[in-house]
Amino acid sequence: MFVLNPNYIPKKEGFYYSCEWIEHGLVFFPSKISMCCFMGVKEGIQTIIQDNFYGDNFKVDRIFEVRNKFRAFHKKGKIHINCMNCPSLKSDAWDERNYINSLYISHWSNCNSKCIYCYSAQHPEEFKNDNYHLIDIIKNLTKNGILRRSSKIMFGGGEPALLDEFEEIINFLLDNGFQNIRVHSSGIKYIPCIEKGLREGKIHITISVDSGCSETYKKIKNIDCYDVVRANIKRYAQCKTFSGFANVSAKYIIIPPLNDNIEELEKWLIANKEDNLSYTILDIEENWFNLNKNNIPQHIYDLLSYVKNRSRELKTNFELYERINNLKSI
Ligand code: SF4
Ligand code: SF4
Repeated sequence: MFVLNPNYIPKKEGFYYSCEWIEHGLVFFPSKISMCCFMGVKEGIQTIIQDNFYGDNFKVDRIFEVRNKFRAFHKKGKIHINCMNCPSLKSDAWDERNYINSLYISHWSNCNSKCIYCYSAQHPEEFKNDNYHLIDIIKNLTKNGILRRSSKIMFGGGEPALLDEFEEIINFLLDNGFQNIRVHSSGIKYIPCIEKGLREGKIHITISVDSGCSETYKKIKNIDCYDVVRANIKRYAQCKTFSGFANVSAKYIIIPPLNDNIEELEKWLIANKEDNLSYTILDIEENWFNLNKNNIPQHIYDLLSYVKNRSRELKTNFELYERINNLKSI
Protein backbone atom coordinates (compact mmCIF):
# COMPACT_ATOMS: atom_id res chain seq x y z
CA MET A 1 0.00 0.00 0.00
CA PHE A 2 1.28 3.47 -0.90
CA VAL A 3 0.52 6.46 1.30
CA LEU A 4 0.87 10.16 0.53
CA ASN A 5 3.41 11.76 2.83
CA PRO A 6 4.25 15.48 2.48
CA ASN A 7 7.88 14.79 3.45
CA TYR A 8 8.35 12.79 0.27
CA ILE A 9 6.70 15.03 -2.29
CA PRO A 10 9.32 15.72 -5.01
CA LYS A 11 10.79 19.19 -4.66
CA LYS A 12 12.76 19.45 -7.87
CA GLU A 13 11.99 18.62 -11.49
CA GLY A 14 13.33 15.15 -12.40
CA PHE A 15 13.94 14.20 -8.76
CA TYR A 16 11.95 11.87 -6.51
CA TYR A 17 12.44 9.90 -3.30
CA SER A 18 13.66 6.36 -3.77
CA CYS A 19 16.55 4.10 -2.74
CA GLU A 20 19.23 1.99 -4.41
CA TRP A 21 17.23 -1.18 -3.73
CA ILE A 22 13.98 0.04 -5.23
CA GLU A 23 15.87 1.26 -8.28
CA HIS A 24 18.27 -1.62 -8.93
CA GLY A 25 18.12 -4.22 -6.14
CA LEU A 26 17.05 -7.86 -6.18
CA VAL A 27 16.83 -10.27 -3.25
CA PHE A 28 16.21 -14.02 -3.27
CA PHE A 29 14.61 -15.25 -0.07
CA PRO A 30 13.13 -18.66 0.72
CA SER A 31 9.84 -18.75 -1.21
CA LYS A 32 9.93 -15.14 -2.42
CA ILE A 33 11.77 -12.49 -4.39
CA SER A 34 11.98 -9.02 -2.97
CA MET A 35 13.54 -5.67 -3.84
CA CYS A 36 15.31 -5.24 -0.54
CA CYS A 37 16.34 -7.06 2.58
CA PHE A 38 16.77 -3.99 4.67
CA MET A 39 16.44 -5.44 8.13
CA GLY A 40 17.21 -2.04 9.66
CA VAL A 41 13.57 -1.17 8.96
CA LYS A 42 11.04 -3.50 10.53
CA GLU A 43 9.05 -4.29 7.40
CA GLY A 44 11.70 -3.54 4.77
CA ILE A 45 11.88 -7.19 3.91
CA GLN A 46 8.35 -7.03 2.51
CA THR A 47 8.93 -5.10 -0.72
CA ILE A 48 7.83 -8.17 -2.63
CA ILE A 49 8.37 -8.78 -6.34
CA GLN A 50 7.16 -12.36 -6.48
CA ASP A 51 5.65 -14.44 -3.69
CA ASN A 52 5.54 -18.26 -3.60
CA PHE A 53 8.78 -18.51 -5.53
CA TYR A 54 10.60 -21.85 -5.44
CA GLY A 55 13.15 -21.45 -8.22
CA ASP A 56 10.88 -22.08 -11.25
CA ASN A 57 8.86 -19.64 -13.18
CA PHE A 58 11.25 -16.73 -12.75
CA LYS A 59 9.83 -13.70 -14.57
CA VAL A 60 12.34 -10.96 -15.31
CA ASP A 61 9.64 -8.59 -16.55
CA ARG A 62 7.88 -8.81 -13.20
CA ILE A 63 10.96 -7.24 -11.50
CA PHE A 64 10.69 -4.15 -13.66
CA GLU A 65 6.90 -3.95 -13.50
CA VAL A 66 7.01 -3.76 -9.69
CA ARG A 67 9.87 -1.27 -9.76
CA ASN A 68 8.02 0.99 -12.19
CA LYS A 69 4.93 0.86 -9.99
CA PHE A 70 7.01 2.03 -7.02
CA ARG A 71 8.56 4.78 -9.12
CA ALA A 72 5.19 6.05 -10.35
CA PHE A 73 3.85 6.32 -6.80
CA HIS A 74 7.03 7.79 -5.36
CA LYS A 75 6.99 10.52 -8.01
CA LYS A 76 3.66 11.62 -6.53
CA GLY A 77 5.02 11.60 -2.96
CA LYS A 78 3.20 8.32 -2.19
CA ILE A 79 5.54 5.96 -0.38
CA HIS A 80 5.08 2.25 0.22
CA ILE A 81 4.13 1.79 3.89
CA ASN A 82 6.97 -0.72 4.38
CA CYS A 83 9.46 1.92 3.26
CA MET A 84 8.07 4.83 5.26
CA ASN A 85 10.81 6.61 7.24
CA CYS A 86 13.51 4.27 5.95
CA PRO A 87 16.88 6.06 6.18
CA SER A 88 17.77 4.78 2.70
CA LEU A 89 15.14 6.95 1.04
CA LYS A 90 16.63 10.02 -0.59
CA SER A 91 15.72 12.52 -3.27
CA ASP A 92 17.72 12.01 -6.45
CA ALA A 93 17.55 12.02 -10.24
CA TRP A 94 17.46 8.21 -10.39
CA ASP A 95 18.64 6.20 -13.36
CA GLU A 96 15.41 4.48 -14.43
CA ARG A 97 16.96 2.03 -16.85
CA ASN A 98 16.18 -1.61 -16.16
CA TYR A 99 19.19 -3.33 -14.69
CA ILE A 100 20.30 -4.87 -11.40
CA ASN A 101 23.37 -3.71 -9.54
CA SER A 102 22.66 -5.06 -6.04
CA LEU A 103 21.91 -8.76 -5.65
CA TYR A 104 21.29 -10.33 -2.27
CA ILE A 105 21.26 -14.12 -2.14
CA SER A 106 19.58 -15.39 1.00
CA HIS A 107 17.29 -18.22 -0.05
CA TRP A 108 18.41 -20.89 2.40
CA SER A 109 18.58 -21.16 6.18
CA ASN A 110 20.71 -24.26 6.80
CA CYS A 111 23.38 -23.37 9.31
CA ASN A 112 25.98 -24.96 11.57
CA SER A 113 25.55 -22.31 14.27
CA LYS A 114 22.58 -21.69 16.56
CA CYS A 115 22.78 -17.98 17.28
CA ILE A 116 20.18 -16.86 19.78
CA TYR A 117 19.31 -13.88 17.59
CA CYS A 118 18.98 -15.85 14.33
CA TYR A 119 16.10 -14.56 12.21
CA SER A 120 15.44 -17.93 10.58
CA ALA A 121 15.25 -19.65 13.98
CA GLN A 122 12.77 -17.03 15.18
CA HIS A 123 10.64 -17.19 12.02
CA PRO A 124 10.73 -20.86 10.95
CA GLU A 125 7.46 -20.47 9.04
CA GLU A 126 9.28 -18.33 6.45
CA PHE A 127 11.91 -20.98 5.80
CA LYS A 128 9.86 -24.08 5.06
CA ASN A 129 10.72 -24.28 1.39
CA ASP A 130 14.25 -23.07 1.22
CA ASN A 131 17.26 -23.89 -0.89
CA TYR A 132 15.98 -23.80 -4.46
CA HIS A 133 18.60 -23.48 -7.19
CA LEU A 134 19.74 -20.10 -8.43
CA ILE A 135 22.76 -20.74 -10.61
CA ASP A 136 20.86 -20.81 -13.93
CA ILE A 137 18.95 -17.64 -13.06
CA ILE A 138 22.21 -15.85 -12.24
CA LYS A 139 23.82 -17.08 -15.45
CA ASN A 140 20.85 -15.90 -17.54
CA LEU A 141 20.64 -12.50 -15.84
CA THR A 142 24.36 -12.06 -16.54
CA LYS A 143 24.17 -13.28 -20.13
CA ASN A 144 21.39 -10.87 -21.06
CA GLY A 145 23.14 -7.92 -19.36
CA ILE A 146 20.50 -7.34 -16.67
CA LEU A 147 22.84 -8.24 -13.83
CA ARG A 148 25.73 -5.82 -14.24
CA ARG A 149 29.25 -7.05 -13.61
CA SER A 150 29.80 -4.01 -11.41
CA SER A 151 27.03 -5.29 -9.11
CA LYS A 152 27.37 -5.76 -5.40
CA ILE A 153 26.62 -9.44 -4.79
CA MET A 154 25.87 -10.37 -1.18
CA PHE A 155 25.29 -13.73 0.44
CA GLY A 156 23.14 -13.79 3.57
CA GLY A 157 21.66 -17.14 4.49
CA GLY A 158 22.11 -19.63 6.15
CA GLU A 159 25.68 -20.67 6.15
CA PRO A 160 27.30 -20.54 2.66
CA ALA A 161 29.45 -23.60 3.50
CA LEU A 162 26.20 -25.60 3.64
CA LEU A 163 24.67 -24.24 0.42
CA ASP A 164 25.18 -26.95 -2.19
CA GLU A 165 25.58 -24.59 -5.17
CA PHE A 166 27.71 -22.01 -3.34
CA GLU A 167 30.99 -23.04 -4.93
CA GLU A 168 29.42 -23.14 -8.40
CA ILE A 169 27.94 -19.65 -7.98
CA ILE A 170 31.20 -18.21 -6.61
CA ASN A 171 33.28 -19.71 -9.42
CA PHE A 172 30.82 -18.40 -12.01
CA LEU A 173 30.93 -14.89 -10.52
CA LEU A 174 34.74 -14.86 -10.25
CA ASP A 175 35.20 -16.18 -13.79
CA ASN A 176 32.75 -13.64 -15.22
CA GLY A 177 34.21 -10.40 -13.97
CA PHE A 178 32.21 -9.74 -10.80
CA GLN A 179 34.46 -7.76 -8.48
CA ASN A 180 32.34 -6.97 -5.45
CA ILE A 181 31.14 -10.10 -3.68
CA ARG A 182 30.32 -10.06 0.00
CA VAL A 183 29.89 -13.30 1.94
CA HIS A 184 28.57 -13.66 5.49
CA SER A 185 29.62 -16.84 7.25
CA SER A 186 29.56 -18.42 10.69
CA GLY A 187 33.23 -19.26 10.09
CA ILE A 188 32.79 -22.74 11.59
CA LYS A 189 33.68 -24.51 8.35
CA TYR A 190 36.49 -23.22 6.15
CA ILE A 191 35.30 -22.61 2.55
CA PRO A 192 38.15 -23.21 0.06
CA CYS A 193 36.53 -21.39 -2.90
CA ILE A 194 36.59 -18.14 -0.88
CA GLU A 195 40.41 -18.19 -1.03
CA LYS A 196 40.55 -17.50 -4.76
CA GLY A 197 38.21 -14.50 -4.44
CA LEU A 198 40.17 -13.11 -1.50
CA ARG A 199 43.46 -13.39 -3.39
CA GLU A 200 41.91 -11.69 -6.42
CA GLY A 201 40.47 -8.95 -4.19
CA LYS A 202 36.93 -9.70 -5.37
CA ILE A 203 35.44 -11.21 -2.20
CA HIS A 204 34.97 -9.71 1.21
CA ILE A 205 34.12 -12.26 3.89
CA THR A 206 32.47 -11.23 7.16
CA ILE A 207 32.42 -13.65 10.05
CA SER A 208 30.17 -12.98 12.98
CA VAL A 209 32.00 -13.66 16.24
CA ASP A 210 29.98 -11.48 18.65
CA SER A 211 32.38 -12.23 21.50
CA GLY A 212 35.97 -12.07 22.67
CA CYS A 213 36.18 -15.44 24.40
CA SER A 214 34.75 -18.93 24.16
CA GLU A 215 32.43 -18.61 27.20
CA THR A 216 30.53 -15.67 25.74
CA TYR A 217 30.62 -17.24 22.27
CA LYS A 218 28.92 -20.36 23.63
CA LYS A 219 26.18 -18.34 25.33
CA ILE A 220 25.38 -16.54 22.08
CA LYS A 221 25.93 -19.30 19.52
CA ASN A 222 24.86 -22.34 21.54
CA ILE A 223 27.85 -24.18 20.14
CA ASP A 224 31.45 -24.57 21.32
CA CYS A 225 33.41 -23.38 18.28
CA TYR A 226 35.13 -20.14 19.27
CA ASP A 227 38.67 -21.46 18.74
CA VAL A 228 37.77 -23.11 15.41
CA VAL A 229 36.21 -19.88 14.16
CA ARG A 230 39.19 -17.76 15.22
CA ALA A 231 41.55 -20.23 13.49
CA ASN A 232 39.50 -20.00 10.28
CA ILE A 233 39.44 -16.19 10.46
CA LYS A 234 43.22 -16.21 10.76
CA ARG A 235 43.51 -18.59 7.80
CA TYR A 236 41.28 -16.41 5.60
CA ALA A 237 43.27 -13.33 6.62
CA GLN A 238 46.39 -14.95 5.17
CA CYS A 239 44.78 -14.99 1.70
CA LYS A 240 46.01 -11.59 0.65
CA THR A 241 45.85 -9.75 -2.66
CA PHE A 242 49.09 -8.87 -4.49
CA SER A 243 49.04 -5.56 -2.59
CA GLY A 244 49.03 -7.40 0.74
CA PHE A 245 45.40 -6.76 1.66
CA ALA A 246 42.90 -9.36 2.87
CA ASN A 247 39.24 -8.44 2.76
CA VAL A 248 38.30 -10.26 5.93
CA SER A 249 36.28 -8.85 8.79
CA ALA A 250 34.99 -10.06 12.12
CA LYS A 251 31.56 -8.81 13.11
CA TYR A 252 30.30 -8.15 16.61
CA ILE A 253 26.57 -7.88 17.13
CA ILE A 254 25.96 -6.17 20.44
CA ILE A 255 23.36 -8.23 22.33
CA PRO A 256 22.43 -6.61 25.63
CA PRO A 257 22.95 -7.86 28.30
CA LEU A 258 25.20 -10.69 27.05
CA ASN A 259 28.15 -8.87 25.47
CA ASP A 260 27.59 -5.12 25.87
CA ASN A 261 30.71 -4.43 27.91
CA ILE A 262 34.11 -2.96 27.17
CA GLU A 263 36.07 -5.98 28.43
CA GLU A 264 34.46 -8.32 25.89
CA LEU A 265 34.79 -5.80 23.05
CA GLU A 266 38.45 -5.17 23.90
CA LYS A 267 39.24 -8.91 23.75
CA TRP A 268 37.49 -9.09 20.36
CA LEU A 269 39.41 -6.06 19.06
CA ILE A 270 42.75 -7.48 20.17
CA ALA A 271 41.99 -10.89 18.64
CA ASN A 272 41.14 -9.11 15.36
CA LYS A 273 44.40 -7.20 15.47
CA GLU A 274 46.40 -10.37 16.18
CA ASP A 275 44.72 -12.08 13.23
CA ASN A 276 45.64 -9.12 10.96
CA LEU A 277 42.06 -8.29 10.03
CA SER A 278 41.32 -5.32 7.83
CA TYR A 279 37.96 -4.47 9.36
CA THR A 280 35.98 -4.40 12.54
CA ILE A 281 32.23 -4.42 12.05
CA LEU A 282 29.60 -3.60 14.64
CA ASP A 283 25.87 -4.10 14.69
CA ILE A 284 23.19 -4.40 17.32
CA GLU A 285 20.68 -7.18 17.86
CA GLU A 286 17.52 -6.52 15.87
CA ASN A 287 14.82 -7.32 18.45
CA TRP A 288 16.58 -5.33 21.15
CA PHE A 289 17.06 -2.47 18.71
CA ASN A 290 13.40 -2.38 17.67
CA LEU A 291 12.31 -2.28 21.33
CA ASN A 292 14.82 0.39 22.32
CA LYS A 293 15.50 2.45 19.22
CA ASN A 294 13.74 5.53 20.55
CA ASN A 295 15.62 5.40 23.80
CA ILE A 296 19.06 3.93 23.24
CA PRO A 297 20.98 3.97 26.55
CA GLN A 298 24.07 6.13 26.75
CA HIS A 299 26.30 3.14 27.50
CA ILE A 300 25.62 1.77 23.99
CA TYR A 301 26.83 5.04 22.46
CA ASP A 302 29.85 4.87 24.78
CA LEU A 303 30.65 1.36 23.53
CA LEU A 304 30.42 2.52 19.92
CA SER A 305 32.75 5.42 20.60
CA TYR A 306 35.13 3.06 22.37
CA VAL A 307 35.30 0.68 19.39
CA LYS A 308 35.64 3.57 16.98
CA ASN A 309 38.56 5.08 18.92
CA ARG A 310 40.29 1.75 19.57
CA SER A 311 39.95 0.79 15.90
CA ARG A 312 41.73 4.02 15.04
CA GLU A 313 44.52 3.29 17.56
CA LEU A 314 44.88 -0.28 16.33
CA LYS A 315 44.75 0.89 12.70
CA THR A 316 41.87 -1.36 11.73
CA ASN A 317 38.98 0.02 9.73
CA PHE A 318 35.69 0.49 11.48
CA GLU A 319 32.39 -0.22 9.77
CA LEU A 320 28.87 0.20 11.10
CA TYR A 321 26.24 -2.25 9.92
CA GLU A 322 22.54 -1.84 9.30
CA ARG A 323 20.88 -0.86 12.59
CA ILE A 324 23.91 0.78 14.19
CA ASN A 325 24.49 2.70 11.00
CA ASN A 326 21.13 4.34 11.61
CA LEU A 327 22.29 5.75 14.96
CA LYS A 328 23.85 8.74 13.30
CA SER A 329 25.31 10.54 16.28
CA ILE A 330 28.41 8.55 17.16
S1 SF4 B 1 12.74 -0.53 3.11
FE1 SF4 B 1 14.25 1.07 2.72
S2 SF4 B 1 15.94 0.05 1.64
FE2 SF4 B 1 14.12 -1.29 1.51
S3 SF4 B 1 13.16 -0.78 -0.43
FE3 SF4 B 1 12.17 0.45 1.17
S4 SF4 B 1 13.30 2.39 1.17
FE4 SF4 B 1 14.56 0.89 0.11
S1 SF4 C 1 25.31 -17.72 11.62
FE1 SF4 C 1 23.59 -16.58 10.72
S2 SF4 C 1 22.24 -18.12 9.81
FE2 SF4 C 1 23.62 -19.18 11.23
S3 SF4 C 1 22.48 -19.34 13.16
FE3 SF4 C 1 23.77 -17.48 13.23
S4 SF4 C 1 22.43 -15.83 12.50
FE4 SF4 C 1 21.47 -17.79 11.89
